[in-house]
Amino acid sequence: MRLLIMGAPGAGKGTYAEGISKHYGIPHISTGDIFRQAMQEETPMGILAKSFIDKGNLVPDDVTNKIVKERLSKVDCLDGFLLDGYPRTLQQAEEFEKTLKELDLKLDAVINLVVDESLIVSRIVNRRICPTCGKGYNLVTLKPIKEGYCDVCGSELYQRKDDNEETIKSRLSVYNEQTKPLINFYEERKVLLNLNGEGNAKEVTECIISTLEEIK
Ligand code: ADP
Ligand code: ZN
Repeated sequence: MRLLIMGAPGAGKGTYAEGISKHYGIPHISTGDIFRQAMQEETPMGILAKSFIDKGNLVPDDVTNKIVKERLSKVDCLDGFLLDGYPRTLQQAEEFEKTLKELDLKLDAVINLVVDESLIVSRIVNRRICPTCGKGYNLVTLKPIKEGYCDVCGSELYQRKDDNEETIKSRLSVYNEQTKPLINFYEERKVLLNLNGEGNAKEVTECIISTLEEIK
């Protein structure tokens, strides 16, 4: 399975992607996670990415395209992958299409999560993340067993610096202006699946998997 998952910030891409990638045994590749890891390690790419991410802007296309291309050429992607958060602009989508052609690969589906904007803001402000394993939590809908700590690895959870109400506004307008046009782009290529992302993590993940089973 070669899949993309897209949707507004806070639509739940990362949460659902985790379950889907486990189900199919394919790597979950999140450009946001790659950037956050580089930011934590303070690599040159991480320092550059931070200057955009903290303001709610996108990291430049050339940097992002290069990272994804490198990641997709690793052996664990041979049998499939789930890309989360990429492409996010038309330029990225066009570049990605070229990369797929070069590697002689075809996308099976693009999952577009549909979530109302009012729900998005509350999801984002309640989001907490594990710095070690990347698992995402929600203080209301997906609480860790022990408050403040990761169920999987026990690390102390943190709140992303870009998950505040001020930054969310710019992230949402960036999404509406630059990422939403990709819905049309993939609709034209007949790979788009619009799915309701408003339920709980388990429900939505199961619904996505059963829809993917139908197209297989
Ligand atoms: P969310 O979708 O909740 O905003 P992500 O973890 O997917 O979270 O992305 C976090 C931030 O990383 C984005 O706001 C953006 O600044 C940057 N980023 C992630 N993916 C891309 C991409 N494909 N192109 C440019 N910037 C990206
Ligand atoms: Zn963890």
